[in-house]
Amino acid sequence: MKENFIIDGHCDTFYRIYEEGASLYDNRGILQNSIQNMLKGGVKLQFFAAWAGDKTQHMSPAVDVNIMIGLFYRQILQNSQIIVPVFCYKDIEQHLNSGKILAMLAIEGGEALEGKLEMLDIYYRLGVRCLTLTWNNSNEIGHGVLEDDSGQGLTDFGRKVVKQMNNLGMIIDVSHISKKGFWDVLEASTQPVIASHSNSSYVHNHKRNLDDDQIKAIASSGGIVGINFYPRFLGNGRVSVLDILKHIDHISLICGNVDCIAFGSDFDGIEQVAEGIENSSHFNNIVEALYKANYSQADIKKICNGNYIRYLKRVL
Ligand SMILES: [Zn+2]
Repeated sequence: MKENFIIDGHCDTFYRIYEEGASLYDNRGILQNSIQNMLKGGVKLQFFAAWAGDKTQHMSPAVDVNIMIGLFYRQILQNSQIIVPVFCYKDIEQHLNSGKILAMLAIEGGEALEGKLEMLDIYYRLGVRCLTLTWNNSNEIGHGVLEDDSGQGLTDFGRKVVKQMNNLGMIIDVSHISKKGFWDVLEASTQPVIASHSNSSYVHNHKRNLDDDQIKAIASSGGIVGINFYPRFLGNGRVSVLDILKHIDHISLICGNVDCIAFGSDFDGIEQVAEGIENSSHFNNIVEALYKANYSQADIKKICNGNYIRYLKRVL
């Protein structure tokens, strides 16, 4: 196994599979994050989100998410020589050297709970290990970034969800949540959290990006900030791998180390791509850019996989 194997903390591939009837192996070349591309790009562990977060869904958020969970297991079964689901740190340890891609199930958008705490237990039993508490809109758990102006954060139900996620050993994802919601979660959670696919708003001012205080708070608690490859979150106009490096540079500068930095590609959830990282087969271009920018081998390994390995060992 290559030393700089990739852990990618966010993609919407199963939403695309649901929408387009694609397959994860993807002989039709529809997906940015197909099995073929992951193999080429050295992706070893992939978080797969079932996305519940838009009001333009087909059925109810819970039904849509359950269909995507069904598709996840069906596709994994069909490709079981290449990809394996993981549910705990022991699974990760066991399969890391197996030559297979490790798949972790996530939900993006707490709408999928439909306001019922029991739904969290059910999703856990279905194998979900990470929940992005909100999408851009507000839900029963809290307020999304698009509704940030209201100044509201976590609801009482949201606090119960955070507590139960801590109890279960689930990964709490604060990407997409309002600023107040972010700070409410950090106060309520006994475990470090991830912003699975969020960049620096100092480097590029966008509602979906995190300010320096937010990034430093995640870092100091041992959490993860996953760099998102969506051009609109990276910079202005045409952006490339070098813009990804600008976010990595800034986060490592304000934190004094790279220990919170990881990847959250957002592949198959983005309609535009950055130059040099058009799909998951291109991760090597980022690794090369990090070497060129004089990052040490130890730091590059941390960004590619080491930080997530440390985090998953602690939280799962
Ligand atoms: Zn997202």
